[in-house]
Amino acid sequence: MPTTPPVIFWFRRDLRLTDNLGLHEASLTNQPILAVFVLEPHLLKISSVRRKFLYEGLVALHQDLQGHGGGLHLLHGSVEVALPRLIEQTGATALFYNKDYTPYATQRDQRIQARIGVPAYSFDDAIIQPPASVLTDAGQPYTVFTPFKNKWRSQVKQRTLLPLTHHIQLVNQPVLDLRQHLPHADMLERVVIPPAGEQIAQQRLTAFVGGGLYAYQTQRDRFDASPLNSNLSTSSLSPYFKFGMLSPRQALRTARHAYEQATHEGERKSVETWVDELIWREFYVHIMAQFPHTARRNFRPEYDYLEWNDNAVQLQQWQAGMSGYPIVDAAMRQLNQTGWMPNRARMVVASFLTKDLLMDWRTGASYFMEHLLDGDLCANTGGWQWSAGTGTDAQPYFRIFNPISQSQKFDPQGAYIREWVPELDLLNGKELHAPWLAKRLIPSYPAPMVDHQQARQHTLQAFQRAREIFQQHKQKES
Ligand SMILES: Cc1cc2nc3c(=O)[nH]c(=O)nc-3n(C[C@H](O)[C@H](O)[C@H](O)COP(=O)(O)OP(=O)(O)OC[C@H]3O[C@@H](n4cnc5c(N)ncnc54)[C@H](O)[C@@H]3O)c2cc1C
Repeated sequence: MPTTPPVIFWFRRDLRLTDNLGLHEASLTNQPILAVFVLEPHLLKISSVRRKFLYEGLVALHQDLQGHGGGLHLLHGSVEVALPRLIEQTGATALFYNKDYTPYATQRDQRIQARIGVPAYSFDDAIIQPPASVLTDAGQPYTVFTPFKNKWRSQVKQRTLLPLTHHIQLVNQPVLDLRQHLPHADMLERVVIPPAGEQIAQQRLTAFVGGGLYAYQTQRDRFDASPLNSNLSTSSLSPYFKFGMLSPRQALRTARHAYEQATHEGERKSVETWVDELIWREFYVHIMAQFPHTARRNFRPEYDYLEWNDNAVQLQQWQAGMSGYPIVDAAMRQLNQTGWMPNRARMVVASFLTKDLLMDWRTGASYFMEHLLDGDLCANTGGWQWSAGTGTDAQPYFRIFNPISQSQKFDPQGAYIREWVPELDLLNGKELHAPWLAKRLIPSYPAPMVDHQQARQHTLQAFQRAREIFQQHKQKES
């Protein structure tokens, strides 16, 4: 009897079986599915925490696939070479995958489609409402979050979650330890990461619903949650979303269920605020898909005329957590040592780099991508441009965070500072936020690298100047 040729399901940033739209569609062909991941060369260059997390996610996925009689077929090298070759070798009749909306992935996928010689089917799985489906009444993309959110909420439909496909028919894979087939790097052995994979993501979601979700409204700016611990003031799910170990639809559905179970208004508000964060994630994917140039260029063109400060020594001080501002330094040292930083801290250090030091947001964004566990082009670029005032913020350039008041407000007892800047441990509460005011100075800790108030004035003028030059150019052109 002739064997049925397979179809290929190409896993990318959707390392899960549950509610995986492309995988589900592949299973409807009733042909055996060959589950593939291509370890492209650029994946070997991502931050070591993210790389190790990806590898562990692949191992977990392989084990889950083995539970269904198959396994993950791992390919190495350029996807444009590896995939057409595999299709030829296996006689696969179609390629299925879920869309990735970054400029690099979009272009690569177009090239792949042109090269493989069999039909390619792609699906909107990574976000709940795909780009170009949330538009103004005039059919334009939204460029400000709140109206986007309102439209998003008004048209979101509850889709039935796709179950883990019980009838999934996978191409048999030799029983192998996938770990042995991943590139070995000694330095990765020492890197500490949270456990990866779909099951862990599900457990984390459940724990968050039973833990921090109902208090999210008041607790979300705390500094204590991290994927490396069990504090749940925020969900710490971003690394799992980044690699698609959790479906955003499942997160939304779980939140809606929690909303129905809530016992008072505060709890309901907390759930809604968390859903807003899921919508922020979608918003930045839409921005990247519809304005791909903003991966490298300012969203607001008037700030192309900004004269950024290009001081390598200052940049290095910021990176090393030696700025002299304890809250900034605590956050940067946490990033350097663990690959994690809480959201409030990300806003503080990004504001400090771009507004106190007047340094180009691209330098900060690159540094984040080199170190973050959840580093994601859309959210990271969106967050950096927002902080720099060059992006989609509704009240941009004059939002300049004061690192001292942020520290006093969000780390009032100084626990976060004491943990990451231990040389300041002996200072009392007030001094901890501004050690230069302390009676005894700590010799190993630097003086503040800039005066915040002076830096603020300087930055406001620089932004004003950039806008004026932009206006002059526009007038000349018209
Ligand atoms: C300068 C800067 C850089 C950032 N870089 C990244 C990045 O590379 N990757 C990343 O996933 N997030 C990034 N963020 C957004 C945010 O800081 C993280 O998503 C959040 O801290 C993750 O923690 P959590 O999972 O506990 O979030 P929760 O508070 O539990 O929120 C739930 C989910 O919503 C999404 N989310 C929350 N806030 C945002 C936001 N502001 N923008 C987009 N999505 C959001 C995340 O997927 C998150 O897991 C950045 C923010 C800033 C200000």
